[in-house]
Amino acid sequence: MKLTQQGRPTDEVIADLEAKRANDVRWADGRTFGMIYDGGPSVHEVAERAATLYLHENALNTQAFPSLGEIQSQVVSWTAGLLHGEDGASGFLTSGGTESILCGVLAARERGRTERGIEAPEMVVAESAHAAFHKAAHLFGIRLHKTPVLPDWRVDVDAMADAVNDDTVLVVGSAPQYPQGVVDPIPEIAALAARVGANCHVDACMGGFVLPFVEMLGREVPPWDFRVEGVHSISADIHKLGYAPKGVSVILHRDKKLRRYQTFVFDGWLGGFYASPNLQGTRSGLPMATAWAVMQHLGIDGYKALTQQTLDNADRMRDGIAATDGVRVLGDGRYHLIAMTGDPESERPVDAFALGDALLERGWFHDRQTPPDSLHSTVSNTNTGVIDDYLKALGECVDEVRGTRADDRSTNYATLE
Ligand SMILES: *Cc1c(COP(=O)(O)O)cnc(C)c1O
Repeated sequence: MKLTQQGRPTDEVIADLEAKRANDVRWADGRTFGMIYDGGPSVHEVAERAATLYLHENALNTQAFPSLGEIQSQVVSWTAGLLHGEDGASGFLTSGGTESILCGVLAARERGRTERGIEAPEMVVAESAHAAFHKAAHLFGIRLHKTPVLPDWRVDVDAMADAVNDDTVLVVGSAPQYPQGVVDPIPEIAALAARVGANCHVDACMGGFVLPFVEMLGREVPPWDFRVEGVHSISADIHKLGYAPKGVSVILHRDKKLRRYQTFVFDGWLGGFYASPNLQGTRSGLPMATAWAVMQHLGIDGYKALTQQTLDNADRMRDGIAATDGVRVLGDGRYHLIAMTGDPESERPVDAFALGDALLERGWFHDRQTPPDSLHSTVSNTNTGVIDDYLKALGECVDEVRGTRADDRSTNYATLE
């Protein structure tokens, strides 16, 4: 396919783009459980206006755009405050959770090399930890030990302990982990890392902008943030339940010295001194500005209200699933993530993927995951007002698919093309 020779008028181009979206998930209806996090009309408005202001700005050089340097430092320090970082806590904005994780892993490798002389670094992550840790190990030449989870889906700290050795630079916990939504025993993981002098990274990509508000709302949250001694770094995505549009996350380090291990500076190029906080070069100001604007617009009270709504939605969904014969929830996740599977104890069990197909036909989108075969929901304010409809559709679909099995067993968290 070749690019059109003659340019085309704006209205035509935009109309084409609108038409292309016809087969995309209908997230605005609230029928998508994940990928889109909808803070409501006023959040859209403030994000769109900030996006227009910063559409063209470039954070590559904050001497040219000091406003972006300030935006980054304010968003990072607000986030550090929510996560109980002490005075020295510092970090950077990145393009998303994956980049924040890559930065955290790189910092651990570099610290191991510098402070402990480790030449063949290793890391220990449970099978529940996000795939981005495997990507980091691949990119940065780190040997990864994958350890099993316990029946409650939390990491098995004993299994991790068996995999830790003198070359371990990093041990990882998640708050919460994505597949079943449970929070790992972070204090035990941090203590394990401390035993060999390795970093402990907490992946709060999902929980970073949820758990602080859950705690403020008075629901119990196990210890997971910088209040846990021995946590070195945390990743937290603003573009998930921080309700900013896609392209922005925070990587935080307990102090500036630890942060130094993730940055790159080079002073031997004909183009001049090059200092780089994360993995990007040219860096759009748009997501940074929208994050700043959305966080300012919502404030703590706004986030608490959205979190309350999220918890109400998720609790209703969990209760509804529990009340539906043939399906059940995996694990005892109490926040915004739900994994639903066929109940093996039911007399007429349900194939999760056949159920997923039937729900999708009615416009309800879940990620399919395995093992075990299950349907994933990241519940948020996006789903406010549709949970009763969903549970009605669920009941119908369960009846429809009992005794059938989907031919397609593929899962699809992320795709290539
Ligand atoms: C979403 C997520 C990531 C990855 O973040 P991206 O923004 O998709 O790159 C990592 N860990 C967890 C727990 C997540 O939910």
